[in-house]
Amino acid sequence: MKIDIVTIFPKMVEGPLAEGIVGRAIARGVLDVRVHDLRESTTDKHRVVDDIPFGGGPGMVLKPEPLFRAVERIRAERGEPSAVILTSPDGKPFSHADAERLSRLPHLVILCGRYEGVDERVRSLATEEISIGDYVLSGGELPALVITDAVARMVPGVVGDQASVTGDTFAHGLLDFPQYTRPADFRGMAVPPVLLSGHHQEIERWRRNQALARTLSRRPDLLESAELDARDRAVLDELEKTAPGSEEPG
Ligand code: SAH
Repeated sequence: MKIDIVTIFPKMVEGPLAEGIVGRAIARGVLDVRVHDLRESTTDKHRVVDDIPFGGGPGMVLKPEPLFRAVERIRAERGEPSAVILTSPDGKPFSHADAERLSRLPHLVILCGRYEGVDERVRSLATEEISIGDYVLSGGELPALVITDAVARMVPGVVGDQASVTGDTFAHGLLDFPQYTRPADFRGMAVPPVLLSGHHQEIERWRRNQALARTLSRRPDLLESAELDARDRAVLDELEKTAPGSEEPG
């Protein structure tokens, strides 16, 4: 999968991309990520990327020309992208479903805004606009990294054990179950005995119950679209009756 990120601060993006799971995927060639300095798509001597807003007001706005040229260069050098994503606080809120959908596309371009944002005409370059949450950041670099990381995890071969991705929080519309590692007793806090039992079926059932209970108490809104079978529904009914708000289904 190819990802091209356009930014005025390439170093802000390159550092995090070199580490961890994404860093390894790039090193192994599973992901082909390029970071483009927006200033390289300017034509003037001072490599100006921003200008004052028409109509007045505070701050600067990213000019349309360098962003258009950057995308044209990517088209010429890297081929036609499947999606051009503009990061923007007024974009569509990013979700697990978006990460999954984008992970099936062969080539993404992500544009990072700065200052007061981008010239409105830049929106016509984008096939979609994405917000990573209801807060304003000073630039699109962190959103580009968030999108890249979440999408990359879903690309087969990026995370070593694909089962760890398919079981993640949100993958089935439920939050993840609690995890424990050694020691079995830490400062008087014991690991639930079932996890030490070696009974795979019981462990699976316990984990499913925990995921259901945790989702019911923390994010009941997710249950409306979760994939639930008859047993799940019975567990939830029982939980709602016996211990509303509790995370311990026993
Ligand atoms: N004046 C703009 C904010 C610009 S913030 C407004 O009120 O909408 C500058 C840049 O940071 C944006 O162009 C965008 O690329 C990025 N950005 C800031 N917050 C973001 C968010 N929550 N999600 C995605 N991108 C964001």
